[in-house]
Amino acid sequence: MIHKDKCSFCGRPGNRVRILINGSSGNICDDCIRDAFDMVKMSEEHSKKSLNTQPGVQAMLKPVEIKQHLDEYVIGQNEAKKVLAVAVYNHYKRINQQVKTDEVEIEKSNIMLVGETGTGKTLLAKTIAKLLDVPFAIVDATVLTEAGYVGEDIESLLVRLLQNADYDVARAEKGIVFIDEIDKIARKGDNPSITRDVSGEGVQQGLLKLLEGSVVNVPPQGGRKHPDQKMIAVDTKNILFICGGAFEGIDKIIARRLNTKVVGFGAKEKTKEIDKNNFLQYVAPQDLRTFGLIPEIIGRIPVLAHLNPLDRDALRRILVEPKNALSKQYYELFKMDNVELSFADETFDYIVDKAIEFKLGARGLRSICEAIMVDAMFEIPSSDVKELTITKEFAQQHFEKSLLAQKQQ
Ligand code: ADP
Repeated sequence: MIHKDKCSFCGRPGNRVRILINGSSGNICDDCIRDAFDMVKMSEEHSKKSLNTQPGVQAMLKPVEIKQHLDEYVIGQNEAKKVLAVAVYNHYKRINQQVKTDEVEIEKSNIMLVGETGTGKTLLAKTIAKLLDVPFAIVDATVLTEAGYVGEDIESLLVRLLQNADYDVARAEKGIVFIDEIDKIARKGDNPSITRDVSGEGVQQGLLKLLEGSVVNVPPQGGRKHPDQKMIAVDTKNILFICGGAFEGIDKIIARRLNTKVVGFGAKEKTKEIDKNNFLQYVAPQDLRTFGLIPEIIGRIPVLAHLNPLDRDALRRILVEPKNALSKQYYELFKMDNVELSFADETFDYIVDKAIEFKLGARGLRSICEAIMVDAMFEIPSSDVKELTITKEFAQQHFEKSLLAQKQQ
């Protein structure tokens, strides 16, 4: 039944809107017209953009340029950056190739990043996606369960991507999905547990079809809460999957493998000194298998790179050097109040010391800075101060009385 005096879209009555246009089978108010217009405009802009983002190989950024760009945002991790730059370059070459009908088919180069938490895996993936101007989504593998169990189905991994592409399917189909905590769906074979293994092998099998490329029906609103929603078909053939995981304990697996090799092949193999402080740099596909990923999954993620733990020097550089380094963000914030902010050099050392002391890593730098800066950010806008230097003493005094410091004691 049509309500003559009601907007058929938002349901508001005629006396609560400015204009209500009556159609033959429904009404629409001025607000809904405006929303619809915005949607049409956005979709047109995206289609134009999608056409423009199909550059020939010549127009594409070369791996060296991609790495240079990553260098501006991510400290260290040179090997991962290089591997990532090449994989992304090849991925987009591959997409271009499909336009022609070449005989050699280039296979997809999904990427696996192995490294401790907070070492820059997500940051790398995010920075690449921004550079390429393709839709990007971060999803967490831990929400996945086998169909039928409580949790999300595999298709849900694409919901966020679709949303971030403003439902422009063609654009989403060339996007990048970062699957975080992929190690959490490893088969826990050696650990027979009475609780059901809702992650593990079943989820890995489900993930396979997504990684290799297939048409998947995605519920646009996600979840199972909207059973009536119309599915959107998304082809994952050209979606680049970057997976990340800390793979806790994999260093022991690597060490064991390296050790047996040394024993097995005698002294000759020993010539190359093994750096025992960072086993992750020797990570190989068979280690992922021992950890509990099925061989098919490993095969579909052929590019493997490691991230190094961040040492004191790296943490300090993270505070100062990246284009949007924390210190630069604070300069900017204070500038908006016409206050010139500066940090004494030793303040940075103090912040890094605290991050290490409390084992907070790079992710903790932000909360330590916030604890130090909050009083200044509260008071300065209402004062006449035009210059502020954060000395080590200032930092120490404010940090020590902060909740963060007390929580860590
Ligand atoms: P993860 O490896 O767990 O995915 P993230 O990439 O999310 O870690 O890093 C967490 C935060 O720490 C980032 O947002 C960034 O601010 C900082 N960070 C971590 N590693 C680096 C790095 N190598 N260079 C610059 N910042 C970093």
